[in-house]
Formats: sequence, structure tokens, C-alpha cells
Amino acid sequence: MSTLAKASAATAPGAGPAAPFDVERVRRDFPILDQEIHHGKHLVYLDNAATSQKPQVVMDALGRYYGADNANVHRGVHRLSERATEAYEGARRRIRQFLNAGEDREIVFVRGTTEAINLVAHGWGRRFFKAGDRVVVSEMEHHSNIVPWQMLRDELGIELAVIPMDDEGQLELEGLEELLTARTKLVSVVHVSNALGTVNPVERIVQLAHARGVPVLLDGAQAVPHIGVDVRALDADFYVFSGHKLFGPTGIGVLYGKAERLEAMQPYQGGGDMIRSVTFEKTTYNVIPYKFEAGTPHISGAIALGEAIEWFRALDLAGVEAHERALLELATRKLREVPGVRIIGTAREKLGVVSFVMEGVHPHDIGTVLDLEGVAIRTGHHCAQPVMQHFKVPATARASFALYNTASEIDALVAALAKVREVFC
Ligand SMILES: *Cc1c(COP(=O)(O)O)cnc(C)c1O
Repeated sequence: MSTLAKASAATAPGAGPAAPFDVERVRRDFPILDQEIHHGKHLVYLDNAATSQKPQVVMDALGRYYGADNANVHRGVHRLSERATEAYEGARRRIRQFLNAGEDREIVFVRGTTEAINLVAHGWGRRFFKAGDRVVVSEMEHHSNIVPWQMLRDELGIELAVIPMDDEGQLELEGLEELLTARTKLVSVVHVSNALGTVNPVERIVQLAHARGVPVLLDGAQAVPHIGVDVRALDADFYVFSGHKLFGPTGIGVLYGKAERLEAMQPYQGGGDMIRSVTFEKTTYNVIPYKFEAGTPHISGAIALGEAIEWFRALDLAGVEAHERALLELATRKLREVPGVRIIGTAREKLGVVSFVMEGVHPHDIGTVLDLEGVAIRTGHHCAQPVMQHFKVPATARASFALYNTASEIDALVAALAKVREVFC
């Protein structure tokens, strides 16, 4: 048995009930969190919506792969190649279980959310959309769920329609029904907004779209690190996310697609591994998911993402959700008490993110002062400029939480904001 297979056996599903969630114990899995930033200031990492930190098991999986099992997949008959292939395909199985997808072949490895959406735009959109057809997105999309469709608009003459959002940062679904015409070919919306934290009613969106025979893509980049996602219960046609926001490495992500959707799609890139046979006259493509995985994939990344998911699934997920909900409530309450702070995005259903502005201080300056206090947040438009336009702000400061954050880190954020006021107000 390879070292990889051994490691996975220890945390296999069904290994018994998870211990109650204990944030201090979980933090010990993340060595990066225990460091000083600037003299005497301990790191407070609140930029998890940009990328999450990695538990030790993920770093160990990378090292183990390169140290013991490294070989190319799907080609060699030798032992190393077999082990690498086994581990790579094992990761696909773990991801399938994590999403509760029906079959392993519905899981396509890509670089991340961005590449997954571009793959659907190319493989599905460019194949099936015609001039005058419509793709529906929402006002709170990440640029990666806007620009690929605009590129198709400019190329094919399709139309991009937008579900409006209210001033709390919630989608107005009455608007959606009007947008679902006979020419609507896809609804592509974010599950949880990275700029606002809004949790969208995706079950309802899927129902409405499916009632008109329209397939749905859900951008789950900000959902999967926080809540259990069941793609079959959601009945999503496509579900996409990035490994690096889910405690895994950068450069690896997932496109889930229903088998019949993926079968119908044309490949994105041509090359090795995605073919069945090649002559100069004619090439036949491989079956899904390999049809979409041209060239040598990010083998170590896929394996380490599988490890991240196994690590995550072994936690008490109800405990994780309760902990994160408490953090969000605490942060929201305390930020409201800071003079001059206005929270952007006050939806009833939120997860993981507090975006805010402070009267008289540019968000960039907030970020700079916070950094001197050891507090890492993101400032800017968060790759969602239409959201900034809606709220008529150039940018926001955004604190975003992961399961390893603590109440005392929220206190550190609030104390650092008091410093910002001292400096600028
Ligand atoms: C981060 C993010 C993306 C883009 O993910 P990449 O990893 O940069 O490809 C897309 N949508 C949402 C909601 C995100 O948070």
C-alpha cells in the first residue's frame, strides 16, 4: 500500500463520529497562524475569502506525493505511475463524496473557479448558444462569472441579463422570472457572495430555472468552505469551486457537471490524455471527465485537495457552522458599534464575510493601518465591481472568516479599527 493510501485510510469516512468542534485544537493544524507580523503583533488572518490557510495534512500530502509517489498519471504501467493514478483518482472520489455527486466522472479537475466557468462558457456556451440567446447572471457576481459570458456576447451576439439586488444585498427573484424567456439558455449565479457574504436562495433559483427548462451553474467558491453542499439535492447542472479557498493548494479546482451535460460539451483544450485515438485525419475524444483534462494535470494539487476535503469532513461540521455563525454575529455587532462604520451587505442569510466602509477613511488606508496591527483583511472591489457600483462606493474593507478564527481575533480587528479612527478621524 502506498503512503498516500495509508494516510487516507486513517481518515476514511465512517471512521466514527467527529469530536465536538474545538477551535484551539483546529488551530494547531495550521502552523502559519502562529506567527508575529510586525514587532509584537500576532497574525490575525481575516482574509479567508481571498484564500484560506492550509492544514499540516495538506502540506504533508504534497511532500509525500513528491517524496514517494511522483509519476505521471494514466500512462505508465510501472508501480509509481499506478500509485500516482490511484491517488489522483482517489481524490476525485473524495470530491464526489464531498459534493454528493452521483459518479466520479462528473468531477473535472480544473485550475479553479475561474477556469471552471470558462470551461463551461467554451464547452457548453460556444457549442449551444446562438445570437439572441440569453445568459442570466446576478448583480453580485465575481468578475469570473461575468467576463466569460461577455466574451461570448461579443463573439456570438448573445445577451447578458442581470438579476437585480436590493440595498441589503439580496437578489430580487421576482426579477428572475421575467428574465427566463424562451431564449434563456443558462442561469449562472453565485451561491455565496464573496463581496457581501449573502447566501443566495439557490434551491429556489434552480427550481425557477428548471421549470423553464434552463440549466443552472452555481459558483460555490465561497460556499464549500463553510457549509455542506449536496449537488444532487440542489439539482445543479454545474457546480464550481477553487481548492485554495477550501484549505487546499492553489492551481486546483473543480467543475462538477451532470454526466449528460458534460457528455454534451465540447472539449476546451486539445492534447494528451483527452483523446482516445489520433490520426492526422481524425481524432476521437476520451470519455468524461478526461475529455476536459488535456495534458498532465496538477496531480499533487488534486491529491492534496482530496486530503484537505478529508480533513474538513472529519470535523464536526454542525459545530463548525455554529462557530462561524457566532463569529459573524459577533463581528457584525461589534463593527456596528464602531463610530463611522457602515456595513455593506446586510442580507438575512449571510456567511463568512463582513464588508464595510468607514466615514472619512479610504478602505485602502484601513487595510494599511490594520496590517501594522497584525490584522490581515482585504480592501478593494473584491473582483465584484458591479457590487461597488450598486452601493456607490469605490471599494470596501472586508473581513472574512474561516473555521480557525476566534472571538479574540474579532476583538483584535475592532481594536485595530479604533487605531484607524485615531490616525484618520
Ligand atoms: C474567488 C472567487 C472566484 C474566483 O476563484 P479563483 O480561485 O480566483 O479562480 C469566483 N467566484 C467567487 C465567488 C470567488 O470567491
